[in-house]
Amino acid sequence: MTPRSEAAPRSVAVVGSTGSIGTQTIDVVAHRPDDFRITALAAGNRLADLADQAASVRPEIVAVGDEHLIPEMVDRLRAVGLADVEIVAGSTGLAEVSSSADIIVNGVVGFAGLSSTLAALNAGKRLALANKESLIAAGPVVQKARRTPGAELVPVDSEHAAVHQCLLAHGARAEGDQANRASSARRIQLTASGGPFRGYSAEQLAAVSVENALAHPTWSMGPKITVDSSTLMNKGLEVIEAHELFGPPAGSAGYGIGLDDIEVVVHPQSIVHSMVTYCDGSTIAQLSQPDMRLPIAYALAFPGRFAEPFGAIDWSTLGRLDFEPPDRVRFPCLDLAYQAGRIGGTAPAWISAANEVAVEAFLEGRIRWTDIAQVIERVMSQHDGGSGETLDEVLDADSQARKYAEMVLP
Ligand code: MG
Repeated sequence: MTPRSEAAPRSVAVVGSTGSIGTQTIDVVAHRPDDFRITALAAGNRLADLADQAASVRPEIVAVGDEHLIPEMVDRLRAVGLADVEIVAGSTGLAEVSSSADIIVNGVVGFAGLSSTLAALNAGKRLALANKESLIAAGPVVQKARRTPGAELVPVDSEHAAVHQCLLAHGARAEGDQANRASSARRIQLTASGGPFRGYSAEQLAAVSVENALAHPTWSMGPKITVDSSTLMNKGLEVIEAHELFGPPAGSAGYGIGLDDIEVVVHPQSIVHSMVTYCDGSTIAQLSQPDMRLPIAYALAFPGRFAEPFGAIDWSTLGRLDFEPPDRVRFPCLDLAYQAGRIGGTAPAWISAANEVAVEAFLEGRIRWTDIAQVIERVMSQHDGGSGETLDEVLDADSQARKYAEMVLP
């Protein structure tokens, strides 16, 4: 087999390039220019940042959020000596970028990432997925797209990248062995840092500010996911995400693990990124320092390994690792997400949409932190039982849940 460094570099499209995952992907790829080359960037409206990124990676194509931004982008790219880069815009431009490379890294925030997820899988590409909301909201639609020949979904979410590795660690990689692994993997333990408010009383929680919620103790991430971590909604959504990734039966991309076989364990140090427990009682875990560049590198290089270490542990200084059950009373978003996962259909789309509206209102100072769970609970009480089998149903569910959420905002 030809060593990777002698083969042509694999092309990478970075969608959501100016966000936290996007900028870290560019950093990761810069370590291995012989193995990977960024050929496409997509961002919304942060054109100055996008132009800086284009100047450093020299892509073939860039996508901006809207047509009216194209003239400014043309000027900005000319100013950095990139007159011949193709510029596309809007949803068609995003779809074009999201099917344009060997690997598509989807680092978009929220439901807006769905079109990129579907475009990448429907084009038979590898999707390195950091945008969990698309998989959660559109589970059945994404599962169909995963069956496209060549399509491959490798999770970038650190917990799911950990589970992916723990499942592979148990057996050979050959497809035929998956049935054996599926029959022996019993439970997934998703770890949660507990966020900045772990151990807070109800009175303390009622008084937390936006600034408090954005001060995550271990991970550096964008504002939406950081607030989600503070409510444990991020972990609840990750339970649904894990069920979508690893729940389908063996032979159809999954490992047959049920939603209620996915447990949440609070682990404040964020060193153990998740675990899989097998039928004989053995638990396999994946550990590193919290550094998103590691799961990004894993998703790029899989089934190989990236030749640069990110987040490697110095065992001489690591010290202790603690584990405790989550506080389901003070952090009700966790069980709201389990309930949505059990209902299935469009319930995950509803909870994800309601959460996006509530978190945005919190970040804008319109509601309190404790209102987030209440808004979501009130929206979910209206859920109409839709199945979410088609993209139109998912889009309808998303907009309906957003409308309800706006209505019940205090
Ligand atoms: Mg995560």
